[in-house]
Amino acid sequence: MDIDNDHTVRVAGISRLRFETDGPGIRTLVPLSGCRLDCAYCINGNLRSFKVGSPCSPEELLEQVKLDDFYFRASGGGITFGGGEPLLHGDFIRRFCEICPQEWTVAVETSLNVPREDLQGVLEVVDHWIIDIKDLDSARYLEYTGESNDDVLSNLEFLRQLGVAPKVLVRVPWIRGLNTRKEAILSATHLASQGFKTETFDYLIPKDFLKKYSDHKCDFLPGSLVDLGDDKPDVPRKGSFSIHEQIKKLHELLTTPLTGVYE
Ligand code: SF4
Repeated sequence: MDIDNDHTVRVAGISRLRFETDGPGIRTLVPLSGCRLDCAYCINGNLRSFKVGSPCSPEELLEQVKLDDFYFRASGGGITFGGGEPLLHGDFIRRFCEICPQEWTVAVETSLNVPREDLQGVLEVVDHWIIDIKDLDSARYLEYTGESNDDVLSNLEFLRQLGVAPKVLVRVPWIRGLNTRKEAILSATHLASQGFKTETFDYLIPKDFLKKYSDHKCDFLPGSLVDLGDDKPDVPRKGSFSIHEQIKKLHELLTTPLTGVYE
């Protein structure tokens, strides 16, 4: 879903010389604007719009990022496409990969919540996958993003069946008020058992962000949670979710043969 013709997308806030934070080696992070989710604590809120950033063609992007060619080659690094949701710009990514040095590696940071065609479109050119899974629990995912995670789970299984799992890092956040640390670890453990690399982390929410959004949007988050510290205990949340039920559902999905996915 490129917003302009001729493989041009909007790019905002290119970040150079990142080391091991968005994939291996020294990398340049290229955020592509536009996302179909509505995460309660979106840290790139301005990039949810497809209209933010400067229009850029793959050729123009190459001109901007090639000054770090030496570092990319020397470190096994390259370009990481983030967002927004980069997989909505598969044509752009494919074209860029055609013209950039083949020694560079290409990574995507994605929610994986995209139609299967968008995933298939970049399979051959992506070297590293970094997946922001949000939460495996469908109810919590819906509450947090406003969307179903059916595509996420299905696409994850698709990657696993293709044998891509070792190239996939799934990040599992512990988000105060949404899930618990234990649930995040259980999710990561399950994903690791499927062959994925996993990482759990404490999703720290800026105070200002909470003040801005908690009143009208994040009603599952207690208003007192403005002073977040590393050692804060899990907080109660509205509703009752069972990660075990979700893992059971995921297991069923993973053990159900998919049809037509390799066409
Ligand atoms: S997937 Fe990323 S860009 Fe999209 S709403 Fe969520 S945090 Fe924001």
